[in-house]
Parts: sequence; structure tokens; C-alpha cells
Amino acid sequence: MTFIASVVNPKSENQPGFWFCFQNDKLMIELNESGGKIPRLFDPDELNLKPIRSQYLGTLNGTDCYSAEIPLTDPWPDSMEFFSLIEAFGKLDEELYKTAVHAQQIVAWDRDHQYCGRCNSPLGYQDSERAKKCPSCQLMVFPRISPAIMVCVLRDNRILLARNRMFADGFYSVLAGFVDPGERLEECVAREVKEEVGLQIENIRYFSSQPWPFPNSLMIAFTADYRDGEITVDGKEIAEADWFGVDELPKCPTGKLSIAGRLIDWFRMEYAGTH
Ligand SMILES: [Zn+2]
Repeated sequence: MTFIASVVNPKSENQPGFWFCFQNDKLMIELNESGGKIPRLFDPDELNLKPIRSQYLGTLNGTDCYSAEIPLTDPWPDSMEFFSLIEAFGKLDEELYKTAVHAQQIVAWDRDHQYCGRCNSPLGYQDSERAKKCPSCQLMVFPRISPAIMVCVLRDNRILLARNRMFADGFYSVLAGFVDPGERLEECVAREVKEEVGLQIENIRYFSSQPWPFPNSLMIAFTADYRDGEITVDGKEIAEADWFGVDELPKCPTGKLSIAGRLIDWFRMEYAGTH
């Protein structure tokens, strides 16, 4: 299945569309034995839902897709359940899940940008692109994406993992942080590693990226090699950090849900059998 984003609703409603309905940032899914489905409807009213706002998203394999913000007062339809996007992972097939991530961000953007941040006038929609415009001061407001980096630092067949103070005891992950305005991604990677654990790195290489809608990040993952310094944790964000061989990894992310999991799984595969 392929999702093609669009803001222009063709109004060709001769077949029901996929409706990605959110209540309090939770996605409505119809669960059955073979997994989860996004309901196909002509109108959410078929389920007695009265959206506060709804948006046309584009098409998924030719089927129109919509998102909607459901009021907290609307009772859940009998056949449906609501899940956070983290809980929904694995319940939907990959392209439906990806479209749900897109839908959630559009719903949140529409909800959170009703008024101009500069002059407080109600914003109007643009017909041709996903944007709003202030009729008084012409300010344009686009969906916000906040880039963040994540890095797997390597040294002699070992990976640098750190325990954030917010993590449960014994749980480690790769270092991560938000990109500052005006900063290149590679500069951000080097700065975060220096700030959080006091190390200098080199050979910063792109790994992969992933939208992380909690609430609106784009995670951009890198690998890098150790160059110089001793681990000195900042004590603010990072409580502990250390080098781990592939056979001595602590509790850490794994699997496809997060790019941190994919990065650490890559290390496991790449360095299997090393000490
Ligand atoms: Zn304005």
C-alpha cells in the first residue's frame, strides 16, 4: 500500500474512505482476529461520532484518507478501541501505521494552531498546501517538525550506551538530543556527545531516520567512532554511561518500533561474535 499526501479533497466519495479518528491523541482502531483495521466510512456520523475538526489527508492505494479530532464527550463506538500510537504499533500493517503517524500530527497541528501567534487573529486554511495563513498579518503556519539526532558511538567493538535520569534503573540507550536552530546535524551529533558524556567523536555517518510523533520529532540516527576523552556524564540528563560489548549489553531498546532499537539491533548483528 502506498500513501500519497494531499490537501485537496477530490470529493469523489463514491466509496468509503479510511478515517483516522483521534480522541485525546489516541487512535481509534477496529480490532479483529487478524489484527487491527482503520474504519472505512463515508462519514464518522455512521459511528455516532461528531468530530470537532477533520482533515483530508490524501490517498492510500487510491482510497481517500481523512483524520478527525473526536470530542472527549463522544462515547466510544462498540466495535472500536482507542490506542496511543506506541500501543498501536504492530496492530496495523506498516503503511496504515505510517499514515496514522501522519494523521496524528496533522490533527495535533490543526488543533494547536487555531490563532496567529503574532497577532492573535483566527487563522485560515490554504487551499494548495498544508499550511494556515493569518488574514491580518500574513503569517504562514506549517505543521511543525522538530529534528532530533541519535548516535551510536563505537570504540573497539563496543557501543556507548547511557542511562538517562528519566529511564528506569538498569535501562540504557544510545545518546540523543534536539537540533539547535542554525546547527548542522553533524554539529549537533558532536555537541550532544560532548555535552552529555564529555567525549570527542569522528566519522559521523548517517544511519536512518524515523518520524517520532511524541509529539512532533523527526529522529535522524547516526553512527560515529570514538576519538578522544574519558566518559564524564553531565549528571543532569545522563546518570550513567559506559562501553558495552555485544555479549554484555544491558537492558536497552530493541525491535522496529523505535530507531534506537534498530540502531542497537544493527550493532548486535554487525558485531556478533566480537569481544
Ligand atoms: Zn497574524
